[in-house]
Amino acid sequence: MASVKSTCPVCGKPAEPAFKPFCSQRCRQVDLYRWLSGTYRIPGAERPGAEEGKNQSESED
Ligand SMILES: [Zn+2]
Repeated sequence: MASVKSTCPVCGKPAEPAFKPFCSQRCRQVDLYRWLSGTYRIPGAERPGAEEGKNQSESED
């Protein structure tokens, strides 16, 4: 399989191109809400290092 099968990170259903990587506008908002909630819970300066292996940091190339 060459194509990457993306699934909605919220409910696990196949992602829709219009709402990628989510399956619907609802799931997109749910994820956004979760993300914001998580952000608000973080004190700010305190970071547990690399939380994800894939970090989208700006490369100074
Ligand atoms: Zn979904």
